[in-house]
Amino acid sequence: MTQIGDNIIRLKRQIDAVAKEHGHKAAQIVAVSKQQPEDKIDAALAAGHRMFGENRVQEGQERWSARRTRFPDLKLHLIGPLQTNKAGDAVALFDVIETVDRIKLADALRTEIQKQGRTVRCLIQVNTGNETQKSGVRVDELPALLSHCKNIGLIVDGLMCIPPVDEPSALHFALLKKIAVAENLCAISMGMSGDFEKAVALGATSVRIGTAVFGARN
Ligand SMILES: *Cc1c(COP(=O)(O)O)cnc(C)c1O
Repeated sequence: MTQIGDNIIRLKRQIDAVAKEHGHKAAQIVAVSKQQPEDKIDAALAAGHRMFGENRVQEGQERWSARRTRFPDLKLHLIGPLQTNKAGDAVALFDVIETVDRIKLADALRTEIQKQGRTVRCLIQVNTGNETQKSGVRVDELPALLSHCKNIGLIVDGLMCIPPVDEPSALHFALLKKIAVAENLCAISMGMSGDFEKAVALGATSVRIGTAVFGARN
């Protein structure tokens, strides 16, 4: 399973090169471990990787609850949609919640963070394509959500997006970067296995990479 370690090293090199070429700091790799076998997760950990992404709370609990105690320096990111009634579980497990997209969820997270006394950082997921089915706050509703988060004391580090499948992702990456700059937000989560280089060129501070780290999902 040193293959996984090699993949991470190669991806880091690619990311560093693109970031340097475009005058950005190197983006971090959120290794997306959803639906991956246990031995591959352990291989990534053995290779020293500590930042992982999951898109479901329950699956994340099953995969990471025990490993959390063995690896206290883990940084777990929730990258999938979150139901308000799972906010408590999410706050208990994750270090970064990338998918805040509505006021009710922001309120629930704030309450849980206070109650549990955990430090959890948040990103707001932006529906850059204004797709009707997609989670994420619409671009025109982002300022109101951001100021609400500020008012309730929810720490928002930045933004994330998942571009529409049928459009060039670069357009959405450029838009997300532009919004983040306008709103004075540092963290920008964009880019996956197929388009992370474009995302890094356009200013991603973290990329969410699954298959290029672990291989195809089950
Ligand atoms: C699964 C997933 C990824 C990783 O996708 P790959 O193409 O395997 O790199 C990234 N972001 C989100 C939100 C995902 O759900």
